[in-house]
Amino acid sequence: MIGWVLKKILGTQNQREVRRLTPLVGEINRHEEVLRALSFDELRGKTVAFRERLAKGESLDQLLPEAFAVVKNCCRRFTEEKRRIRVRGQEILWEMIPFDVQLIGGMVLHSGRIAEMATGEGKTLVATLPTYLNALSGKGVHIVTVNDYLAARDADWMGEVYRELGLTVGCLQHGQTQSERRAQYACDITYGTSSEFGFDYLRDNGMATTPEDQVQRGHFYSIIDEVDSILIDEARTPLIISGPVTVSTHQFDKYKSIIEGLVRKQNTLCTDWANQAKERIEKGDLQGAGRLLYKVKLGSPRNKLLLKFQEDPGTRRAVDDAELEMYQDTRRTELYKTKEEMYFSIDERNSEADLSQMGRTFLNPNDPNFFSVPDLITTNHDIDSNAGLSVEEKIKAKAQAQADYEEASQRIHNISQLLRAYCVFEKDVHYVVQENKVVIVDEYTGRLMPGRRWSDGLHQAVEAREGVQIDRETQTLATITIQNYFRLYEKLAGMTGTAETEANEFKDIYRLGVVVIPTNRDCIRKDADDLIFKTRREKLNALIEEIKKRNAAGQPMLVGTASVESSEIISRMLRRENIPHSVLNAKQHQLEAEIVARAGERGAVMIATNMAGRGTDIKLSPGVAELGGLHVVGTERHESRRIDRQLRGRCARQGDPGSSQFFISFEDDLMRNFGDSRKIAGLMTKLGMEENEGLQHPWLNRSVETAQKRVEGRNYQVRKHTLQYDDVMNQQRTVIYAWRSDMLNSTDPRPEVFETVDERITSEVEARAGTDPVDLDGLVHWANSAMPVGLQKEDFQKAGGKEEWAKLLKTKVREAYEVKVKFENPEAVKALERFVVLGAIDRLWQEHLYAMDGLRTSINLRAYGQKDPLIEYKNEAYGMFGELMGRIKEEVVHNLFRSASSLSAFESFLSALPQRAGRGELPMEAAAQPTEGSMSMQAEGGSTMVEEVLAPMKRQGPKLGRNDPCPLDATKKFKNCCGATGSKGCLKVGG
Ligand code: ADP
Ligand code: MG
Repeated sequence: MIGWVLKKILGTQNQREVRRLTPLVGEINRHEEVLRALSFDELRGKTVAFRERLAKGESLDQLLPEAFAVVKNCCRRFTEEKRRIRVRGQEILWEMIPFDVQLIGGMVLHSGRIAEMATGEGKTLVATLPTYLNALSGKGVHIVTVNDYLAARDADWMGEVYRELGLTVGCLQHGQTQSERRAQYACDITYGTSSEFGFDYLRDNGMATTPEDQVQRGHFYSIIDEVDSILIDEARTPLIISGPVTVSTHQFDKYKSIIEGLVRKQNTLCTDWANQAKERIEKGDLQGAGRLLYKVKLGSPRNKLLLKFQEDPGTRRAVDDAELEMYQDTRRTELYKTKEEMYFSIDERNSEADLSQMGRTFLNPNDPNFFSVPDLITTNHDIDSNAGLSVEEKIKAKAQAQADYEEASQRIHNISQLLRAYCVFEKDVHYVVQENKVVIVDEYTGRLMPGRRWSDGLHQAVEAREGVQIDRETQTLATITIQNYFRLYEKLAGMTGTAETEANEFKDIYRLGVVVIPTNRDCIRKDADDLIFKTRREKLNALIEEIKKRNAAGQPMLVGTASVESSEIISRMLRRENIPHSVLNAKQHQLEAEIVARAGERGAVMIATNMAGRGTDIKLSPGVAELGGLHVVGTERHESRRIDRQLRGRCARQGDPGSSQFFISFEDDLMRNFGDSRKIAGLMTKLGMEENEGLQHPWLNRSVETAQKRVEGRNYQVRKHTLQYDDVMNQQRTVIYAWRSDMLNSTDPRPEVFETVDERITSEVEARAGTDPVDLDGLVHWANSAMPVGLQKEDFQKAGGKEEWAKLLKTKVREAYEVKVKFENPEAVKALERFVVLGAIDRLWQEHLYAMDGLRTSINLRAYGQKDPLIEYKNEAYGMFGELMGRIKEEVVHNLFRSASSLSAFESFLSALPQRAGRGELPMEAAAQPTEGSMSMQAEGGSTMVEEVLAPMKRQGPKLGRNDPCPLDATKKFKNCCGATGSKGCLKVGG
């Protein structure tokens, strides 16, 4: 009911929005009519004229009607002159002039929102309108595509319009060098994939140290094509640049054999229960069987017998009932008791594994506590209240307790990951082993993802299980999520055929509104009700029959699968029936695009995973419309309704005929994990379902959608959760990158450096003066060891109080520095000053990232202590960041004089740099080749070297002032977050 009301409101809101924009369409079209009288040169002259008007203060909004008209008129000229354009080596005849609905789509994109436009509505062309307009600003427009091929295709194809009108177009491709990339970004318009854009940002801000290194020039306006795929499906994967880690903490090899023993024990136990369940079923005691099987599910979710029993809807229901019963008890007494009857329990939905007392005893009979997390809080409390200990002994005891705790956490983490590797992840389903490597299979698309690795040690655990070489652990050098990368843009827009179902998420996370644009011609696609089968086998057999039938009539078909594996199964079955077909796995984008484009030919059968051939238009050949157009068959309902809508949208474009239907079974993952089997089984009995026969009814569609909604909700929570953690990192990254960028861009770094030195002095003086008695000896010692100031205790005593001490130190340190650098080459000194700060930031920030990784891993274990891990994480991260800032400053002070004392050595170091660091070439080639979809790359060396300074680059991102609220804690002022207690902030960034 609420949904219906909402829809009504959304619907009308949407219509109102479209109506609001309609008058502008008339205006654009009137301008366009006038333009027809111009010569082509005069039309081109409009670009220059627009730029002049912008310079005189007109806004982009004011220019919109005329600028859109210029693009439309350019398209008209191309169409009239029958222009042929070379697109990826093939000639394409230009025959499109934007329709009115496309103009509206363009306006929505210009306003920084998402335009939902169905497949085939011509979104590629729509994007040219706002792109041209916004590129007039000269600030660079970025258009994001789902793969490299589409980036190149669109830059070739749409580029014709921009180039004709006097703008430049660039295109990012994987493997381009630094200088090639910079040239692409220098263009008015740049096409590329999200990971190319994101990695460039990371390299520019986390690693670049020379003018040649930075390639981007700001984040003004971006249009994301297939925005749901980029911002929702890919959002769960952060972009990571990593390098090898120095110390390894994994103990998988050590525990592998004992875990194998444990898993064997557990399997015997579970199989036993499953057999007992069988007896109960035979005796008619379904309830008892359900309880037993639920235990099996907890202990060994992929147990073969269990999976087989669950094929029967009645038994499934009994298992669900048993589960429900346990969860209905709020104290979960029964559940905990059950978990203690096995060695460990696995939660397949949340992918968690827990040892029981039995398991711990099996692993270490002499000391079961070896595998439980010590209660640090109680231990610390006990230490504190132990009157027999001296202060020093207490500190020691606490440090020991902390060390024990960390060691135990590590151990348990290792065990838990191994258990997941053995019990949740299945070879050839979740991963494959290829050339002695564990390669992930993407759960969304079924693609292999070489180069991508599970995080948190899971990948190594699976490698241990498979007995392949356990790869060296890597350490994060720079990281950002796709979400946070796109939040950098001043204005963001997106387009896709399917955004409406996720409108809330776009609003909450990206503040992007969704406007549904009406289609140019009415859509006449026929969506049939789902066909539901008991087993997968029955489903596939019926599917092949269906394909045979339609194929015999010559109707083309697109068969969508959820994984590579099922594509291959269907392909094998079709081969047996001698039905010619093609299989696409989204591995070879260009080739697949060419194949998919022919999917509308008479008799074509195309099997494709979700991403395969996306972005390519399927046109019907003559005679096919009479056969009903393209028929789309889904072989499984996807976790998300949006992906199903995508698949359906592949047919019936631009008013073509077309139809679609999904085939599903109870054994599909979605139904197995999230389906309300009781309800469905009830429905099926009511509707009288026979063996071996598919059932079709609108009620069933609704049940399936309920399951999908459930998963969508859960996945949204997961993404939100990731984001909440990432926000903490994002704030820290903003501060560090801004500081770094300030140093890079400063033509005179010395004031900045001394500001840092002053802050360090202030906080040291405050600390020393704050003790009782005042620790003047300590201050004198610190001052003389950190800086060559040569001050005696008497000098301070003569000077007065702490204010004067700080002043004295600040003056002296400047004098000492002047003396040091007096006879040096001023340019070299500047380089040195930058080097000192950047070097300190990079080294310590990377250490900090490593520590934050560790914190993220260990924090979930604390949930045992009834604490909210997110709050704990924020608090700790906040403290760690404060320490980091303090340490960077300390290192700056220290290195400033240490390096200055050997400036000549530093100079020779600098001149040697080109050979050492490969000047101008940050690691572009990942050690693990990032194929499409791979989101991580490895740097070769590790830390980077600082040498020269860039010509000023416009700094982007939110500007932070020294007195702004601390980004880590809005209740505190920024300056207080970093350990500086003086009157000045800890860090100067922004204007
Ligand atoms: P989408 O990305 O929305 O699925 P595309 O941009 O791939 O759609 O375009 C689909 C097809 O529609 C392309 O073949 C394109 O040439 C054609 N097309 C787009 N706009 C027009 C137009 N205004 N007039 C004629 N054909 C158009
Ligand atoms: Mg498209």
